[in-house]
Amino acid sequence: MADSLVEGSPIPGTQVLVAEGGCHTLLIGGRSCDAADGTRFNVEDPATERVLTTVANAGAVDASLGLDAAVDAGAQWAATPSRARSELLRRAFDLLVPRIDDFARSITAEMGKPLADARAEVGYAADFLRWFAEEAVRIPGRFTPAPDGTTQIVVTGRPVGPCYLVTPWNFPLAMATRKLAPALAAGCTVVLKPAELTPLTSLLFAELLVEVGLPPGVVNVVTTTRPAEVSAALLADPRLRKLSFTGSTAVGRTLLAQAAPRVLRTSMELGGNAPFVVFDDADLDAAVVGAMQAKFRNGGQACTAANRFLVQADVAEPFTDRIVQRVAALRLGPGDVAGTDVGPLVDARAVRKIDELVRRAVAQGARVLAGGRPVAGPGHFFEPTVLADVAPDADVLAEKVFGPVVVLTSFTDERHAVELAKRDGVRPGELRLHPRRVQGAPHDRRAGRRDDRDQHRPDLQRRGALRWGQAVRNRSGGRHGGAAGVPRDQIRRVRRADGRGDDSIAFGARRGGQRCRPCTRTIQWSAPGSWWPSSQPGHRRSVRTPGCGPA
Ligand code: NAD
Repeated sequence: MADSLVEGSPIPGTQVLVAEGGCHTLLIGGRSCDAADGTRFNVEDPATERVLTTVANAGAVDASLGLDAAVDAGAQWAATPSRARSELLRRAFDLLVPRIDDFARSITAEMGKPLADARAEVGYAADFLRWFAEEAVRIPGRFTPAPDGTTQIVVTGRPVGPCYLVTPWNFPLAMATRKLAPALAAGCTVVLKPAELTPLTSLLFAELLVEVGLPPGVVNVVTTTRPAEVSAALLADPRLRKLSFTGSTAVGRTLLAQAAPRVLRTSMELGGNAPFVVFDDADLDAAVVGAMQAKFRNGGQACTAANRFLVQADVAEPFTDRIVQRVAALRLGPGDVAGTDVGPLVDARAVRKIDELVRRAVAQGARVLAGGRPVAGPGHFFEPTVLADVAPDADVLAEKVFGPVVVLTSFTDERHAVELAKRDGVRPGELRLHPRRVQGAPHDRRAGRRDDRDQHRPDLQRRGALRWGQAVRNRSGGRHGGAAGVPRDQIRRVRRADGRGDDSIAFGARRGGQRCRPCTRTIQWSAPGSWWPSSQPGHRRSVRTPGCGPA
């Protein structure tokens, strides 16, 4: 092992590959199976380049079999009472939490992040199961008067049908549960395709879903090194009803183009080029803490990672000094060795890309203040690095680094900061300044979003260090991670005000209005209202007056 890496024995138990002896085949229709052509691929530990195991390598035929299974299971799963779906998700949460170490070890083994980060990912992943278990029984609808004033438009949610879920390698468990849990809550069946670098954690999680009693075919997992072939087959299949993708913008564009002919529903979480901005009145200690978190979580391999640091000229030197000190103290090493702060990059390609970006930045005038080089193997390590005086037109500012490199450039005033931020990937409407900052850049007042975590960091905002969020995330209108992410169709029905027709079955409608069950007031047809799923499976839904919530 290279001298510059943390040395030590793996933390006890971590040398055992968690998924060893487990399910390294595809999961289709509740059965473990090999790929139709019998091929397999290697999964490596990025810290040692050791082959951990081999996994079935699906092709288009296997993808179609996965979709067959999802379609076959679809009607029954959609008809399963939402309470039962909710309880399965909750059981998955209850089983996952005590196994946090098993899953963390699996993540670290195949992806490389330090065990502490991996444990945090498992907690984050588990939260999606709990949250969507709660959402499953509360998928709302609404009714409004129709434009002619004599009928009602009723909007109800229905499962969209089989979904194709494509996840990246950087959060192999959290990105899977973030997609699976809302789909299952809504009553959709799925084909999950994990990234080829990190299939083991998804397979381990699929085992857990089988254990909690998820019916066969509801979740199907296809692992593959042929993602283009698998995706093309599924996206062309008219039975597929939705694509949910998290990954790079380039691949996202390709998939959107493939989804376009069928106008397939899509939820896309793509890459960005987030700047972290430090103004001259910032509390520099707080700004440095925020900057280190923003850059080095997951070794910089996070979609939310700050990609470039814009620092006002007056504080550039003290901020840089503190960052350099902190970065120099980071310990680089295998994720399963105690004391490691930053693990390996995910593969050799990532090391080559970052090395190339750093070299080009230096050729374009940047100074290397810490790190700057790949570490000799085995393992895909790159030194935690600080680049200062990066030229505004340097490639490293425009490209996503996705690694442990702090790229510093300075600005003169707010307008200059906004100009730099926008130049490299943040577009108008995607910046938001603290109101105090608006004077300098009034045209940006209503712009954009901050990273979620920063929204909970009023200290950073107040103190003048403010990070702007992702440029391209959710650009296609998909939503992830909250109630809005539940993949449901909205079905509009026009109902007659006089109560005739099938609305009387669903709503107990009466001439001139209907009764709100909890408060017994009559809702006039002209008033908008809402319905909630009944708490009893199979019961009629309640209509309630506005403000009269679920009993
Ligand atoms: P990637 O786009 O290379 O791969 C993502 C997924 O797409 C993988 O499952 C991969 O197998 C699949 N894929 C690759 N090529 C494909 C093709 N031609 N056709 C169909 N599928 C294909 O991204 P990655 O390197 O795995 O992940 C890192 C990227 O993900 C970064 O850009 C990061 O910003 C982004 N990301 C975004 C979020 C977010 O919330 N916006 C979260 C995590 C990661």
